[in-house]
Amino acid sequence: MEEQTVQNRAAKLPMLALRGLVVYPNMVLHFDVGRKKSVLALNEAMGSNQLIFLVAQKDIREDEPKDYDLYTVGVVAEVRQILKMPGDSLRVLVEGLYRARLLDILQENPFMTASVEEMPLKAIHTKAQRDTAEALVRTIKDLFEEYAYLTPQMPKDYMLNVMASDDPGYLCEYIAGNLMLKTQDKQSILEESSPIKRLELLVKILENENSVLSIEKDLYDKVKQQVDKNQREYFLREQMKVISSELGEGENLQDEAMEYFSRIEKLHLSKGTEEKLMKEAERLFKMPFNSQEATVIRTYLDTCLDLPWNKVTKDKIDIEKAKKLLDKDHYGLTRVKERILEILAVRKLAPEIKGQIICLVGPPGVGKTSIARSVAAALGRKYARISLGGVRDESDIRGHRKTYIGAMPGRIIDAVIKAGSKNAMILLDEVDKLGHDFRGDPASALLEVLDAEQNKTFRDHYIELEFDISDILFITTANNLGDIPEPLLDRMEIIDLSSYTREEKFHIAKNHLVVKQVKRNGLTAKQVKISDSAIYALIDYYTREAGVRKLERAIAALCRKAAKKIVENNESKIVFTDANITEYLGVHKYRPDSMLKKNEVGVVTGLAWTSVGGEIMMIEVNVVKGNGKIQLTGSLGDVMKESANIAISYIRSKAEKLKIDPDFYKDCDIHIHAPEGAVPKDGPSAGVTMTTALVSALTGVPVRREVAMTGEITLRGRVLPIGGLKEKTMAAYRAGVKTVIVPEENKPDIEEIDETVKKNLNFVFADDADTVLKTALLFATEPDQLLKEPLIHSGVDRNIKPALDTAVITQ
Ligand code: ADP
Repeated sequence: MEEQTVQNRAAKLPMLALRGLVVYPNMVLHFDVGRKKSVLALNEAMGSNQLIFLVAQKDIREDEPKDYDLYTVGVVAEVRQILKMPGDSLRVLVEGLYRARLLDILQENPFMTASVEEMPLKAIHTKAQRDTAEALVRTIKDLFEEYAYLTPQMPKDYMLNVMASDDPGYLCEYIAGNLMLKTQDKQSILEESSPIKRLELLVKILENENSVLSIEKDLYDKVKQQVDKNQREYFLREQMKVISSELGEGENLQDEAMEYFSRIEKLHLSKGTEEKLMKEAERLFKMPFNSQEATVIRTYLDTCLDLPWNKVTKDKIDIEKAKKLLDKDHYGLTRVKERILEILAVRKLAPEIKGQIICLVGPPGVGKTSIARSVAAALGRKYARISLGGVRDESDIRGHRKTYIGAMPGRIIDAVIKAGSKNAMILLDEVDKLGHDFRGDPASALLEVLDAEQNKTFRDHYIELEFDISDILFITTANNLGDIPEPLLDRMEIIDLSSYTREEKFHIAKNHLVVKQVKRNGLTAKQVKISDSAIYALIDYYTREAGVRKLERAIAALCRKAAKKIVENNESKIVFTDANITEYLGVHKYRPDSMLKKNEVGVVTGLAWTSVGGEIMMIEVNVVKGNGKIQLTGSLGDVMKESANIAISYIRSKAEKLKIDPDFYKDCDIHIHAPEGAVPKDGPSAGVTMTTALVSALTGVPVRREVAMTGEITLRGRVLPIGGLKEKTMAAYRAGVKTVIVPEENKPDIEEIDETVKKNLNFVFADDADTVLKTALLFATEPDQLLKEPLIHSGVDRNIKPALDTAVITQ
């Protein structure tokens, strides 16, 4: 059956169509055969010279391939072995012998036979061709190496075979035969007769294959990473358990960390936050139980887990109820309560509006803290207080970094933890006492806390996690508006609380403070009675303050004394009156301010405003023969000294009109003094007082003792407005003054003055020094006509008549 030409062998052979398989010469492989035609073809081959023509079919789905379904180039192979497999199929082992072209299909049934002709490879003749082939072989080896790297499961001997061979024909067929390539690609290499073109083809195929494989590998790695991460964490935790139990740090630590894990999980925190906390808990595993660092981590975790991440209370804004609560806890403060209720009403209508911060301003002990606490109670919010007095370091607000020994969270986070809810009410007490130094400015940190834009993601240095404090209601307090840093002030809604009058103090004490202190000291109302006269005595002789803090302390002291007496002497009831109070509290600590006993020359009643409220402040002036010296005593501040000089200048400019010797400043010494010399005083509001005292001393005209005054003076004698009118007039009223001279421009402030005070005082509004002098000095007649001769001594006895011809408002 075999015909052979000199060069090309030709043969008529049984033919087997291959599905998805291309066999090359020199290749030994086995495959399974099931189709009937194929089995018969194999039998035919086995019956003769064991040669068979193997050719790939174009479409593997075709069961009965016709000539046009087959490629035209295949391999003549020798069948080495046939194994019967279960069923009708066979497993054959073949060895490719040579490439052959299908010339004709001789028979289609019962099996196919074909006439074929050998297709030897073209030879490489020239050196150039050889070089090209060698270069291509090298490239192929490199590409194959990369291919092997990308498919780690490839058997090692493939690599060795490839690396060991330099024959282009063999290399091509070996590589194409053993790699998982597309049938089409394998076939195209088989069909190519030029060794160089074949190599080029293989280069292309390998390059393409490598790039696809590397993309596949990337994708695989990514997917694997994701899956691995979860598994890894699980493994690590399990591993840690084993490690720590091996180390004998056993159950405690594991249990502890596991407990942290479950506590963290339960909080359902944001992803970043949870991850960070989990990591910290994991670190706990790696440490000896009692180590310093484990303690630090434990404290840190406890602090973080104590934060009310998801705890909120429901606001219950009922204006009627809130009003009742505020009234129940606080006497008076009508306007303050009204403002608070207005703010609450707005909050009820528009709960989403945030950022407006209430600032309660007033002297100590007037009920700022206690109002704030009532607001929290009225809203049904948790309450915490932060005292900002003396805070000078930014880290007080924001905490210290964990790396510092003894690091702690800042006061904000601390208060949030104490309050225990994410929408608590936090009182920032004494914002005006914030300091700052080289360690940073706490005011700007506070600004961030209060800024609705920024406080959603507040970050404490210690906690190192973002915590939303935008739902927290901040209320601030301050004693002095002027000391609040400007940017903070901009954000605040100011509510003023001013000093209490004697009457108000009395009512607060009687209705609130006594009840509170009696209870706090374990007593009952039946056991102690503090009479009204005793309360007045406490207010007048044992305390001097704007608020009621010291009064409350004095009442507490009385209650303690009573408790002691009841226990020691078995007494059933103690009654305190103004008569017996000295027995318990000692001699009177204060004398109430009072007016001068008589009208004097050179002594004027001024009004001052201090942290304890309003006070009477006398100004005394002596003019004696000398050479123009001016002496100022009584711990006067710079502004007050300037006021004195302004007063002197003004009087010099008006000397003639006032019938004062224009050269008075040359031949006499002036001494101005403000008694209680040890108490520092300052401010411009004693300007009119000094002017009046100077004029009185220089003219010898006495000053009406029942007149008190306040006001700044200019060089032209204009009277400028002052602050603290409410407190100052209260002091005047307390001292028994009848008339107060007030700057014209302070007229609108009259409204704020306490009703009792208003009722009992005459107000004279002055816009220039003339009005002041006319009101305060006891001129015999009009000032310009009064004095023929300047008098430079005090205590002149004259025929005096009051000169109150200016507008006097009687309230
Ligand atoms: P502040 O915060 O202004 O310094 P507090 O709120 O601490 O003052 O007040 C001191 C004490 O006086 C508290 O016990 C408070 O309850 C009480 N108090 C102040 N004002 C009133 C008032 N109008 N009615 C009842 N008690 C008051």
